[in-house]
Amino acid sequence: MALAKGITLAENDVASASILLGRIGVPGQAFVVGITGPPGTGKSSLVDRLIEVYRNRGLKVGVIAVDPTSPITGGALLGDRIRMAGHAGDKNVFIRSMASRGWSGGLSRATSQVIRLMDAAGFDLILLETVGIGQSDIEVVGVSHAVLVVLMPGLGDDIQVSKAGLMEIGDVYVVNKSDLDGADVMVVSLLSLFRGGPRSPPVLKVSALSGDGIDRLEEAIERIRIPFTIGGTDLKLKSIRGMIVETARGAAMQKLAVVSESRADSLARQVLEGKTTVEAAAAKLSG
Ligand code: GDP
Repeated sequence: MALAKGITLAENDVASASILLGRIGVPGQAFVVGITGPPGTGKSSLVDRLIEVYRNRGLKVGVIAVDPTSPITGGALLGDRIRMAGHAGDKNVFIRSMASRGWSGGLSRATSQVIRLMDAAGFDLILLETVGIGQSDIEVVGVSHAVLVVLMPGLGDDIQVSKAGLMEIGDVYVVNKSDLDGADVMVVSLLSLFRGGPRSPPVLKVSALSGDGIDRLEEAIERIRIPFTIGGTDLKLKSIRGMIVETARGAAMQKLAVVSESRADSLARQVLEGKTTVEAAAAKLSG
């Protein structure tokens, strides 16, 4: 399949991927939903539900699952996640996993390239799943048009959520596992965190397991997606800007990785011998 080949190229051969991406048309037509939140809150289960929802609407759905724990193999580790396997035979669903560790070229550059490839292949909706524990989420927000933050009851106190930087990035807050005790408490504490603040994003109680509340989640996403499909210039500009920034960041990181291997040792020696400073050596390395 051409898309799979293009994605493998994006993951393994940045230079050729750039040439390929240079040939495809204007990016930013596919609607990208970022899905983030702490591990175990049910993101994959929700993605599975959303695939179903949007296939029923007749949309072509791409899924990119960023896995922070897998070793590097150039991706495709979770591609056959059991929960998503139900969509395996559907050619209008394309699921790709990417390991986030060890990307010298920057995870988000690779992610943004895969988004563009899926976009060019005619996918209408891209679900981009990451774990809400680090920089990759913040980066991923830049290339998404809507961000769902997925939480669950008993996560600990709401402070933890605000500390993780999750309160700033969500367009929709999902308290999943509403079939468990404590979901209402979680909703109330989230609402109180937003009270008095500049934003009041929707906070929804759902259960990926039973399907409860998925219709309300769909409505909340549609409230952002529908305007996007009939214009949405600001959102498109925002995500294209994110792609440019991530591509530049990735290129800089890659350059640094290549350079540092060959020169860091000798620069360290020069610093130890008092011939230069750490700052000057770092400037040389990145210059
Ligand atoms: P992720 O790590 O955020 O992707 O979470 P997963 O989708 O892998 O789900 C983690 C665990 O929570 C799995 O055992 C799921 O079966 C379970 N789970 C997901 N959604 C629900 C739900 O709505 N209710 C309950 N009780 N369990 C759920």
